[in-house]
Amino acid sequence: MIKLVPLTCSSIPIFMKKPIHILVITLLLFSCKEKGKLIDSNPQENYPDKSEIEKTHHITSLNKENTNGFSIIIHGGAGTILRKNMSSEKEAAYKATLEEAIRVGYNILKNGGSSLDAVQKTINVMEDSPLFNAGKGAVFTNAGTNEHDASIMDGKTLNAGASAGTTIVKNPINLARTVMDRSPHVMLSGNGANSFAKEQGLQIVEPDYFYTEKRYKSLEKIKETETSQLDHDNKVAAFYDEDIKNSKFGTVGCAALDKNGNLAAGTSTGGMTNKRWGRIGDSPIIGAGTYANNNTCAVSSTGWGEYFIRAMVAHDISALMAYKNVSLQEAAKDVIQNKLSNLGGTGGVVAIDKNGNMVAEFNTAGMYRATMNAKGELAIGIYKD
Ligand code: ASP
Repeated sequence: MIKLVPLTCSSIPIFMKKPIHILVITLLLFSCKEKGKLIDSNPQENYPDKSEIEKTHHITSLNKENTNGFSIIIHGGAGTILRKNMSSEKEAAYKATLEEAIRVGYNILKNGGSSLDAVQKTINVMEDSPLFNAGKGAVFTNAGTNEHDASIMDGKTLNAGASAGTTIVKNPINLARTVMDRSPHVMLSGNGANSFAKEQGLQIVEPDYFYTEKRYKSLEKIKETETSQLDHDNKVAAFYDEDIKNSKFGTVGCAALDKNGNLAAGTSTGGMTNKRWGRIGDSPIIGAGTYANNNTCAVSSTGWGEYFIRAMVAHDISALMAYKNVSLQEAAKDVIQNKLSNLGGTGGVVAIDKNGNMVAEFNTAGMYRATMNAKGELAIGIYKD
């Protein structure tokens, strides 16, 4: 009886001993070697060249070139950010803070620091600014409080840390990092997370540190809108922000690649204006708001959190790259423009792949964003064009 032996590259059937079989074996081995080339060669070859990157949209103007060194990208939220609603002073203020933040991370990377430190310290600058919906500038809950969510992930080890619903921690991203580094857990929430932050000696503030008039007015406006609408839509009202006279998301996030080839990403937010019932968005959810994996990319999300959780946006981008071997640009575009959009979700991501290619993909009118490459070239964007 003839036994069927599978013809694979690693198991050449031993019954093939005649010359014709030797020829077949030689051809098989050659074709395996060619296939192996695709997998083992410099992964850079699998990414689009510069001219292809130029064709991708939104971040095009920010992508100077693939650095092959280190790079950093940040966002300060995506939404209906329109030129016509923005004063030149306000625009200048956003740009200045984006630049200040990204330069902090850039200098850490330039001096050989880790991507984790770069992400954390960059986010700290935006958390300390009242301009963004994170830390100092966090939005208000329905109860008139501020509840912060944050997460960070190390692409080298796949370690991650997150905190949700904290009320007294000045820099929530520091808490996320501390959860990762100094606790056996990935996510802590509410009072427990506040206590852990105190125990760990993180900077604690009175809740009213987070009061800003602008954000409080947004809450009042939303509440008015809700009560004045007969058939109100909570979800839409919850994203109203009088500052730009339209829906907006102001979360902050960062993704970085360091000189050692390690990727990291982090995200910090006050969540949604008028949120209640202990609502938690995507920002502290590993895989939705933040994801990093040295084999693929590092991603930070911003947008309508419920949709980002349902679409597992950040991990989905990484998974597409891993399982389908597509570029970061293609993966991010597919997830944001197809999957997220088809669900009805709005927002965007900033991301870096393991070769330093950067992308900011969003389906909203704008996203506050900036990039710096190893040459120190800075690019800042706000609107789609
Ligand atoms: N994604 C955040 C949330 O849903 C909001 C934002 O990005 O501004 O909590």
